[in-house]
Amino acid sequence: MTVRWQEHVSLKPYNTFGIDVKARYFVQAHTDADVREALAQAAERDLPVLVIGGGSNLLLTRDVDALVLQMASRGCQVLSDVDGHVVVEAEAGEPWHPFVQWSLGQGLCGLENLSLIPGTVGAAPMQNVGAYGVEIKDVFAGLTALDRQTGELREFDLQACAFGYRDSLFKQNPGRWLILRVRFALSRTLQAHLDYGPVRQRLLEQGVEQPTAQAISDAICSIRREKLPDPAELGNAGSFFKNPVVPAALAEQIRAHYPNVVAYPQADGQVKLAAGWLIEQAGWKGYRDGDAGVHRLQSLVLVNYGQASGAQLHGLAQRIQADIRARFGVELEMEPNLY
Ligand code: FAD
Ligand code: NAP
Repeated sequence: MTVRWQEHVSLKPYNTFGIDVKARYFVQAHTDADVREALAQAAERDLPVLVIGGGSNLLLTRDVDALVLQMASRGCQVLSDVDGHVVVEAEAGEPWHPFVQWSLGQGLCGLENLSLIPGTVGAAPMQNVGAYGVEIKDVFAGLTALDRQTGELREFDLQACAFGYRDSLFKQNPGRWLILRVRFALSRTLQAHLDYGPVRQRLLEQGVEQPTAQAISDAICSIRREKLPDPAELGNAGSFFKNPVVPAALAEQIRAHYPNVVAYPQADGQVKLAAGWLIEQAGWKGYRDGDAGVHRLQSLVLVNYGQASGAQLHGLAQRIQADIRARFGVELEMEPNLY
């Protein structure tokens, strides 16, 4: 036996909300062999398995009576480098932001807008992580996953992943696929995406007129550090709700009452509303009930001031959902994975 099983482990250090629930068993997997061994032993004991990475998109509402398998594999490498088109591969347990920085250090462009997202490479395909107008689907070259039903390895191309807005095949089939490593198609030539939010403005403020990928990454890091709470200081899981995409007629109805509604027309004729704006309008910004609250600068982020339980945070989320439904007729969908 090479993997180390621990019992009754507090998951507080393993989820960015900092929620103190216990795992019945806990294992860190550094290699594919560790993963297979841990899964085989769990099957022998008839134990369910919860796979985690950095725990930055989880809301744990109870003790986990299962094996919690944390992906701790590391490594990234260039697989091919032809005419400025470069395919890189990273192990699932590789922390995301250091991987982005590694790619920039190699002179590679494509991941700069996705800087400073917490978590691991292996979890990124789960919700097709996205920020500032780029999603991983835009630079995705493939992934290798273990089918937990059959024990076989499977390669996924872009189409097979069924990526959508904060969505994928993997999110739709929780627990079925364990992602082992992910490949990205990067480029030595920058195609800058600067039109989202305050990115262009920040670069101009910094005196950057012809930005490099590293300069874009730095600008995005500085914006994010200003707006978002650092989980090391204040527990949170980033955006708690997805931005709702609603029929144009509903968006117009809302605009009739609230001319300043933040709304982005989509290619399919629907309209994406900024969930943070809806929550702020409803008066929740900075709200606090015990140790569960809504961040004072960013209403889309629920926070744990210290001792909030997952159930308290979930209860607060449900109250916000009910209020937004009553006020605007809009359903807010939770983004973090609930256990
Ligand atoms: P975890 O929280 O550990 O797991 C998330 C889900 O993936 C769980 O269902 C888990 O079972 C599953 N999973 C984890 N690893 C694997 C694997 N190897 N194989 C199969 N399933 C797996 N998200 C964005 O999209 N854009 C952002 O800009 C963004 N900003 C954030 C900012 C902050 C401050 C925080 C706290 C979160 C933010 N997030 C953002 C959410 C989160 O960082 C991402 O969703 C991230 O990809 C989660 O990675 P993780 O390793 O922490 O996953
Ligand atoms: P923001 O810039 O204040 O914008 C508010 C919302 O409007 C965002 O959620 C974004 O939607 C949308 N938006 C902004 N500009 C847009 C444009 N040009 N076209 C279409 N939609 C636009 O957002 P923020 O909260 O500071 O976050 C900045 C970026 O980081 C966003 O992309 C956000 O998704 C991402 N982020 C994600 C998380 C997470 O946990 N998922 C946490 C922090 C930040 P989108 O969200 O659809 O991009």
